Amino acid sequence: MLITIEGGEGAGKSSIIQALAAYLASKGVTAVTTREPGGIPIAEQIRNVILDPAHVGMDARTEALLYAAARRQHLVEKVIPALKEGRWVLCDRFIDSSLAYQGYARGLGMEEIMAINSFAIAETMPDLTLYLDVSPQTGLKRIAEAGVREVNRLDLETMTFHERVREGYRQLVRKFPQRIVQVDAEGAPEHVLNEATRAIERRFEG
Ligand code: C5P
Repeated sequence: MLITIEGGEGAGKSSIIQALAAYLASKGVTAVTTREPGGIPIAEQIRNVILDPAHVGMDARTEALLYAAARRQHLVEKVIPALKEGRWVLCDRFIDSSLAYQGYARGLGMEEIMAINSFAIAETMPDLTLYLDVSPQTGLKRIAEAGVREVNRLDLETMTFHERVREGYRQLVRKFPQRIVQVDAEGAPEHVLNEATRAIERRFEG
């Protein structure tokens, strides 16, 4: 099973992934947790290239291709082997990030981003995607309060850009209602976890 966790800045994806892994372990399911862009050395290096604040002039299509390249290598080296062994994979970001950020927010077009990503991922699509919906105001406030975070070129983006990312995700929820479940991530972590586990139960036990 491939479950992807999506959301804008400060949505709480990494915390929820750790909590979901613990929840699955309590049910006897050992899940591999990983992230995009990254998860393996080649993709972590690509991540550094993309997010380096010095690369502020990076062309949007170059950025989209780098995300797709990182995704491909991560899939081949880590995700597909785990799935083949019958393991569950919880992945922080996947194709919907590219669709929302590069396709919608940067205006490259969701169809175009889907096309390069179809080439990158071939047949591997998530069985379930949890989209953690949070306002950019709340998300960015959480990041500021948490203090420590890697320096990131995305920090230079405007609030309008982050609003567009959210709108892109919401369009994806409407477009793929069977696959993507929207989870309200504005509130307390326990509440978010509760909604997320219920979505997993509905999808796999219902
Ligand atoms: O989720 P995480 O914080 O690890 O993502 C790293 C950064 O990459 C974030 O600032 C995120 O907005 C950005 N990103 C992006 N386009 C993607 C995936 C991630 O701009 N397709």
